[in-house]
Amino acid sequence: MTDCLFCKIVAGDVPSTKVLETEHVLAFRDIQPKAPTHVLVIPKTHYANIAELTAADPALAGEVLAAAAGIAESEGIAETGWNLLGNTGAEAGQTIFHVHFHVLGGKSFEPLLA
Ligand code: 5GP
Ligand code: ZN
Repeated sequence: MTDCLFCKIVAGDVPSTKVLETEHVLAFRDIQPKAPTHVLVIPKTHYANIAELTAADPALAGEVLAAAAGIAESEGIAETGWNLLGNTGAEAGQTIFHVHFHVLGGKSFEPLLA
C-alpha cells in the first residue's frame, strides 16, 4: 500500500525506532508513547485490521503475538505486567489502518476495564 504510513515504515521510507525485526514482523516505538514502554508490533504485509489478518494468515497473526510476548521480555515488563491493545475500527480509536498491536508496560491500565 503506497499511501500507508506503516508500509512506509516497513520499507524504510519513514524512519522509526525499531525494537524487533524478523522476516515477517516489525516492532518499533510509538511516536507518542502513552506508557514507559509503548511499542507497536505489525506484520510487514499490509492488512487493515485484526479480522483481515487472522482470516488471511492466522500463522502470521501468531507470529505477531509471539513477537509481542518477546518484546515484553526484552523490555523488562514480562514479570511486572503488560497490556496488548488492538484497536479495530475508527470508533475504537484505530487511526492507522495497517493492523498493529500496542505493547504497553510500566504503567497500570487496569482501571480501563474496572
Ligand atoms: P491506533 O490509534 O491506530 O491504534 O494507533 C496508531 C499509533 O501510531 C498511535 O499510538 C500513534 O502515536 C502512532 N503513530 C502515528 N504516527 C506514527 C509515526 O509516524 N511513527 C510511529 N512510530 N508511530 C506513529
Ligand atoms: Zn500498510
